[in-house]
Amino acid sequence: MAELKGKVAIVTGASSGIGEATALELARAGADVVLAARRTDRLEKLAATIGRETGAQSLVVPTDVTKRSDVEQLVEKTKERFGRVDILVNNAGVMLLSYLKNDHVDEWERMVDVNIKGVLFGVHAVMPTMLEQGSGHIVNVSSVAGHEIFPSAAVYCATKFAVRAFSEGIEKELSRLGIRVTNISPGAVATELTQHITDQEVRDTFLKGSKDMVFLDAADIAAAVVYAVSQPEHVNVNEVIVRPVQKK
Ligand code: NDP
Repeated sequence: MAELKGKVAIVTGASSGIGEATALELARAGADVVLAARRTDRLEKLAATIGRETGAQSLVVPTDVTKRSDVEQLVEKTKERFGRVDILVNNAGVMLLSYLKNDHVDEWERMVDVNIKGVLFGVHAVMPTMLEQGSGHIVNVSSVAGHEIFPSAAVYCATKFAVRAFSEGIEKELSRLGIRVTNISPGAVATELTQHITDQEVRDTFLKGSKDMVFLDAADIAAAVVYAVSQPEHVNVNEVIVRPVQKK
């Protein structure tokens, strides 16, 4: 499988979970990949795996997506090394679930910064290059939480609804400029996402309740991303929802 040979893909949040699996899968499909996140030790490990297992090249760029200058630099470094950007996967995200009465306002702010502003900065940074190329593909990772709302997730869902709305909005402008947009909405995926939840009540209820659930693998979402970006140039896969089958 080398349908992405010659393409250059940036993946944010590539240090774990869906981003890590997506970067690896894009590399297996032939793309050169740029790995962005804050934990560079993990990005370096992934880069080594990509080098060993695929013929693709990779570049590690330490990036905090809440900092506009970091994201601009991510694109600049990509262009310095590879000369172009064909795919941007805006995947970095946090899900700091908490009950409203517990007032975790700092975590609300962090979710807005990472999940919304991180995506906006990514699009801002890559837009001039894709416009100049007259081609490109932006993949935004929303969630089924961008379609449905559940207790403890008012702010998280708000950020993921925002990502989905933004994806739809930019698609309406960018398609005529040759840039494709895909919004991916995963259901529950087994990753580190829930490990960062600090609200003890949520940990005691939501996390215990999820013990009987079936989870997708990060690789299942990576496959959906590769599917979307591997279509012929005239095909614009705008929305993909992937849920696990709840049968054990
Ligand atoms: P993980 O916690 O495994 O991965 C999150 C990634 O985001 C990490 O690589 C982390 O890297 C990165 N990240 C967090 N904050 C920042 C930041 N400020 N700057 C740069 N990178 C950052 O979770 P998932 O793989 O599950 O999550 C990936 C995306 O998928 C998220 O947007 C999430 O909302 C979405 N999603 C996940 C679902 C699930 O069930 N797991 C379901 C639906 C959507 P580092 O800490 O090294 O910076």
